[in-house]
Amino acid sequence: ADEAYHLGLDFGTSGARVTVIDGSGEVVTEAKSGYGADAAADWAAAWERVLFGLLASLPEAARGRVASLAIDGTSATALLLDAASGDVLAAPKLYNEAQGPDAVAAAKTVAPPAHTAAAATSTLAKLLTWHLGGAWQAAAARGTAPALLHQADWLASLLHGRRDTSDWNNALKLGYDPGLEAYPDWLLSQARRGGGEAAWPAGRPAGRLGRRGGPAAGANGGRAGASDAIVCGGTTDSIAAFVAAGVTEVGQAVTSLGSTMAVKLLSSCRVDDSAYGIYSHRLGGSWLVGGASNTGGAVLRQFFTDAQLAELTARIEVARPSGLDYYPLVTPGERFPVNDPGLRPRLEPRPEDDAVFLQGILESMARIEGEAYAQLRRLGASPLTEVVTAGGGAVNAKWTAMRAAALGVPVRRAAQGEASYGAALLARQGWRQHLAQRREALLTDG
Ligand code: ADP
Repeated sequence: ADEAYHLGLDFGTSGARVTVIDGSGEVVTEAKSGYGADAAADWAAAWERVLFGLLASLPEAARGRVASLAIDGTSATALLLDAASGDVLAAPKLYNEAQGPDAVAAAKTVAPPAHTAAAATSTLAKLLTWHLGGAWQAAAARGTAPALLHQADWLASLLHGRRDTSDWNNALKLGYDPGLEAYPDWLLSQARRGGGEAAWPAGRPAGRLGRRGGPAAGANGGRAGASDAIVCGGTTDSIAAFVAAGVTEVGQAVTSLGSTMAVKLLSSCRVDDSAYGIYSHRLGGSWLVGGASNTGGAVLRQFFTDAQLAELTARIEVARPSGLDYYPLVTPGERFPVNDPGLRPRLEPRPEDDAVFLQGILESMARIEGEAYAQLRRLGASPLTEVVTAGGGAVNAKWTAMRAAALGVPVRRAAQGEASYGAALLARQGWRQHLAQRREALLTDG
């Protein structure tokens, strides 16, 4: 039997979670933690505390067998560091913090039109805020190179000791081009002018073999009790959640039915269309094409509690469609599958029976989901073959049946939905790569 375990850490929007799996993918142990009431006063300290706290909380028997680990973090959460000492030089900028007009204007000047790095919350805009505010220069004046790392890169750096690596997924909103496997010229030429070129963390595939712990890992890893585990390339929290669903073939997709409806399709080709908010991450040998609609569970929450949803759903007869044609939204405006900033919520007429009203909403969301995949196909993505469901809406079997009818492909529920489980799968992938390389080296030597 394979004695090696693999550990995934997820640093999400509301807390962190660790999952340890064995070689077959079975969960061995899990733990979670909030960031604490005073986390916002010093985010970096809170994340570090939670990282080592979670590792320390694992049963020794499991921790001692961890051969590899990977960390995911919220996308576009960034830190400014002293590259040599690792000191955190400014308050981290969180995933959802829109930057000021000057930084956003600068990002739009640097990046191609409507590139994801030109968004107000992008990592590039955050970097430019530090530049414009003088924090970058102040760091440089200390005599060492300032360094930018994403949350997941930084947490991994606390284990392996290097402050110059990222992954294809986290680096995307900084401007990294995973097709080129490099930062593009539009970014590098600008960085050279600003004297910041050396500070770009190198990209690498999520889950690809990372570095075994360096000196810093000796110290911190000793605290963690997994000092010789291999630290693999991380990813973003939403991609880790996708990976957790176990989708590996081109044509397979994951629909996440949370507050909003997000779709992600594995495609053999890349699709980017800023008008619809669609962009592609590179994952293994394929592309992960994603888009998000504003429809979703937040509309259900406006009308029903989860208990009411379960009760009313029990009375729905899927075989007798309601005939209602809604566009369920909380507030006006939609981006995908239709780009219409003024689109008004349509939830009329409201039938007397709430079960029929709910049926109309769920049917309409199923229709919108079908339009979303059809739109991805029109824009050049691979044909859809199967949909796996994640998020709170995945529990609803009748909705699943409506969706299968609307999508015309099989729909099933994801066995695993936690991002930390996805990160653990990436760590397992990195470990397998490590074993393959070791075998190859032995063969070459022999
Ligand atoms: P998020 O993380 O985006 O807040 P979750 O993945 O936790 O969302 O899902 C919560 C959503 O699931 C809620 O908006 C809720 O309305 C919806 N939900 C809960 N139970 C059901 C159900 N039985 N049928 C459909 N939707 C449900």
